[in-house]
Parts: sequence; structure tokens; C-alpha cells
Amino acid sequence: MARLMRAIRVSEFGGPSVLQLCSDVPVPNPGQRQVLIRTHACGVNPVETYIRSGAYARKPSLPYTPGTDVSGVVEEVGDGVSALKAGDRVFTTATETGGYAEFTLACEDCVHPLPSSLDYMQGAALGVPYCTAYRALFHRAQAKAGETVLVHGASGGVGVAACQLARARGLRVLGTAGTAEGLELVLNNQAHLAFNHREPGYTSKIMEATGGQGVEVIVEMLANVNLSTDLQMLAYGGRVTVVGSRGPIEINPRDTMAKESSIMGVALFFATAEEKNECASALSAGLHAGWLRPSVGRQYPLEDAAQAHHDIINSPGASGKMVLTM
Ligand code: NAP
Repeated sequence: MARLMRAIRVSEFGGPSVLQLCSDVPVPNPGQRQVLIRTHACGVNPVETYIRSGAYARKPSLPYTPGTDVSGVVEEVGDGVSALKAGDRVFTTATETGGYAEFTLACEDCVHPLPSSLDYMQGAALGVPYCTAYRALFHRAQAKAGETVLVHGASGGVGVAACQLARARGLRVLGTAGTAEGLELVLNNQAHLAFNHREPGYTSKIMEATGGQGVEVIVEMLANVNLSTDLQMLAYGGRVTVVGSRGPIEINPRDTMAKESSIMGVALFFATAEEKNECASALSAGLHAGWLRPSVGRQYPLEDAAQAHHDIINSPGASGKMVLTM
């Protein structure tokens, strides 16, 4: 008889209430080079709300279970898996069957060892946030030691990751948050300076902190609000990487001519196998050296997935990565 598990299922696109908890979902069986994981925690990423709403360009076929960033323990491995075994602590960078569930199936190359220094919640904060931050900083902006980066929205999942990765690479790190708690979190996660993006005039303070020169790189979490002012804050040859944007914005293209600056889109989806391997190696090095330490914010039990989806979009005041616990 098939084993059953609790999992969130989406049978139609729509608001958070389409995230339904089901108790009779069959536990999947691992196939060739697949790993079955007993899930302890799963990261909640904003993109999962866009997909669930039906507004995202790439839609899964219905019904589906959301979630890519799982941490847990290997339950069983399929044929051809040699690097992992039952009982190993792991985290994922993608899943086959969705992470908002008690068990998750993932391809072997998307499953990585979770060091004993991190708990499961932290393990669920690694995948999308750290791979996106790495892509924005190093694959797109080509950020280098000695440059200054502004992480515009540094208190959430991607922002904390960007601060830690940039600091470890020798950049000067400026980060923003919208609350006192967020500012403290940003400073505790390797930013040299923190600024409140809800405070009038904060961009002048950022310029002052660079001696009026501006920053070489901006990792932008809300481009539809900030892109125009970002262009003013860049140094000569500066790069803005657009990680997040929730609508249109008017900019003056002359601002890019004045500094010979660049606006670069970021989409983790387009990372090549080689780029993914490079990122995995960098994360592994950071985990073992100890400077890479995910910061976990709001936590919700699996049955409150709909509330988590509501809050990640509508309740500002991020303080680290949002996770679901099983
Ligand atoms: P998150 O954990 O919810 O964090 C959101 C961040 O945005 C918080 O630091 C928040 O700060 C900040 N923010 C809010 N208002 C802001 C403003 N006016 N200016 C600057 N920052 C502001 O989300 P996340 O996981 O870090 O993701 C951030 C964005 O990147 C989302 O839009 C997500 O969809 C996108 N993303 C894109 C990719 C890609 O491949 N392109 C991959 C992953 C994520 P406060 O709450 O403190 O105000």
C-alpha cells in the first residue's frame, strides 16, 4: 500500500487560499539518480506567490506542490546515486515534486550536504536566495574586491545572502532595510553600513558614505520603486542588477550615459550547469569556512502556507528568510 503524506496542493491558480493542505498525497518513489528527502523545512520565495497566482510566465501543470528550497534527511536513494545515503542531512536547490510537503523528491545533482553547524531552518534559506545573490553579484555585475555594493533590500532572503557573499569577496557592503529590526539584522550579516529605505533622504546619506563618488554595484530588490534613483547613486561604470521588480518605472536614459552605467536583469532560471556548479562550490566553501550563515526570519507550520504567502508580499519588515516547518 502506498505511504501517504501531508502536502500543500494547488489545483487552480489564484490567491493564497488555493494553497490547500492535503493529508492523503502519496509519498513519491525515487527513480534513477533521484533522492527522497524527509522534509524538515522549506524556504518560501516570493516567486512562488507569482506562480501560484497564475501571473508568472512559466506555469506548472495543475495540480502541483510549490517549493524548491528544502532541508531535511535522506530517506531513500534511487539507482545510480552514490554520493548520498539514507540518514544524510541535506538541502536542495530544486525539487521534482515540490517542497511544501513532508517528503520531497529531488534529482541527485540538486541535493547538497547540510553541514552540522546549520539547523534545518537555515538549510531551507540557502537555495534560491544564495544562488540568486551569487548570480547577481558575480555572474552578472562581475563585482570585484575593493568595489562598493549597495544591497537595496538587504533584510530579506536574497539581501542577507548578498551581504555575506559580497563581504567575503572583499567588497565594501552597504545595505538597506525598512525597520529598526531589519537594520540591525543587516549590520549583523556583514554589511559595513545600513540605511533605512523608508526614511526620506536616505539616498543622500548613501552618497555621503561614498564620499560623493557613488557605488559600483547595486543589487536591487524593488526596481519599480528605486531604479531611477539607483542610476543617480552609481559611480562611473556602475552596474545595477535588477533582482526584483513588481511593476513599471520611468527612468531617464541619459543617466546611464553620464556614468556609462549598465542596467542588468537577473534570472536564476538561466544559470548554466557550469554556473550552478561554480555557485555550489562557493556556497560549500562559505559553509565550511563559517562566514556563510543564513539568517531565518518568520517561520510558519506547513498548514499555514497560505498565511506565509500573504505575509511575504503584504507585510513589510523582513528580518531574514521566511520558512515553512513540517
Ligand atoms: P524577501 O525576503 O521578502 O525580502 C524583500 C526585501 O525587499 C526586504 O529586504 C525588504 O525590506 C525589501 N524592500 C521592501 N521595500 C523596499 C524598497 N522600497 N526598497 C528596497 N528594498 C525594499 O524577498 P527575497 O526572497 O529577498 O526576494 C527579493 C526580490 O527578489 C523579490 O521581488 C523576488 O521575487 C526577487 N527574486 C528574484 C530572483 C531572480 O531570479 N531574478 C530570484 C529570487 C528572488 P523591508 O521588508 O525591511 O522593508
